Amino acid sequence: MTDLYTRFVANVLFPLQEKVKHHDTVRVRREMESSQWWSRERIDALQLERLKRLLRDAGSHVPYYRELFAGLGFNPEGVRSVEDLQGLPFLTKAIIREHSDEMRADDAVGLARMNTGGSSGEPLIFFIGTERVTHDVAAKWRATRWWDVDIGDREVVVWGSPIELGTQDKVRMLRDRIMRTELLSAFEMSDARVDEFIARIRAARPKMLFGYPSAISHIAARAEKHDVRVDDLGVKVVFVTSERLYDHQRETIERVFGCPVANGYGGRDAGFIAHQCPAGSMHITAEDIVVEIVDPEGRVLPAGESGEIVVTHLASRGYPFIRYRTGDIGVISDVPCACGRGLPVLSEIQGRSTDFVVAMDGTVLHGLSLIYILRDIPAVKAFKVIQESVEHTRVQIVAGADFSSQDEDQIVGGLRRRLGAAVRVDVDRVERIPAERSGKFRYIVSHVGSGAHGHQERGCAAADR
Ligand SMILES: [Zn+2]
Repeated sequence: MTDLYTRFVANVLFPLQEKVKHHDTVRVRREMESSQWWSRERIDALQLERLKRLLRDAGSHVPYYRELFAGLGFNPEGVRSVEDLQGLPFLTKAIIREHSDEMRADDAVGLARMNTGGSSGEPLIFFIGTERVTHDVAAKWRATRWWDVDIGDREVVVWGSPIELGTQDKVRMLRDRIMRTELLSAFEMSDARVDEFIARIRAARPKMLFGYPSAISHIAARAEKHDVRVDDLGVKVVFVTSERLYDHQRETIERVFGCPVANGYGGRDAGFIAHQCPAGSMHITAEDIVVEIVDPEGRVLPAGESGEIVVTHLASRGYPFIRYRTGDIGVISDVPCACGRGLPVLSEIQGRSTDFVVAMDGTVLHGLSLIYILRDIPAVKAFKVIQESVEHTRVQIVAGADFSSQDEDQIVGGLRRRLGAAVRVDVDRVERIPAERSGKFRYIVSHVGSGAHGHQERGCAAADR
């Protein structure tokens, strides 16, 4: 049952806002709601057509690709299948950093500066055009509607703290209020704060929750422990993203809120890659995103085999992402989903992990709260934060030539603001960040304990909160 306000927001206010922003989101979402039911063959054909257009545009309008294609003798006109992408090298964060200006299309207008990837230990500043924003928002909107809820339905969001958010985010918060979204800061998870969150969720009676699985399962576990019911509020679905979703987290959230958990996978950089449908599959946004799975040598693997997820974003002509390495691991499944959607399925997504950290006053903080401090310093090429004890934290950084003492002060000051003014913070410059003994990369490591467990890092920033 959609109430009047939801209909007003979904049909009037949100489309109007998108129109003002020159986004054609409504049209794109409607097209996607039709194409999701197409056969695989028809979706593949659409994907190939859009890929050819992207490669043609990149070759004629983007200096970096013009030069690359010329050097390789690669002719976009000769592309006959998605496999022809394999004639092109991968796009890495290092390449984007080095060629940021040449990555822009010469006719691009309204490119927005973004930063991300901080959670992977490799901060990245890049640009996205309005076409991409439109498509990523539309893809998120479509996936929301799979769950019988809509934009405009009352929502509680458990996400980064407003202190960390820029102007753009503050505008979004205002919009969120109109859209009946309430934001709870996932960075502070002290018992008192979590009790307050539970009370606010109870008062808001949202139709949906959105946030990090670690934070929402933490809230659910606390509600359960104190016998506070939250399964009687009418919550229809809990959307989680940005971290690996563990089975025990899913079980806790579903049990305590009495509704299904829907997982989303994507990032500001990579786009809205995949989202779970009610039948349980993670469907790839195949109209917009080509997913390749590659082995450590860069060879493309067949369905069923596990490897690194590499994406080409077909709506990225203003600043093309072609064969972008996500650093995450996944498997493409060739088993069609019971829901009947023709969109291919991505399974077993694993990302990198971070730990919770503990401040001197005992506050448990999400690892992302430290990452936010490091990720927007352009001179930091890569980093790792190691919390040795409550009193002592070490930061390893791979610094660019332009790294200054102000940058170092910013890191030390930022960490002390979060962890406590008396904390000793050492900044060590290193050549590279080594992997853990397990072979995995962890960018926030805490030896302080508190039941800290690993969390994957990749947001569905797409529609990027
Ligand atoms: Zn499905």
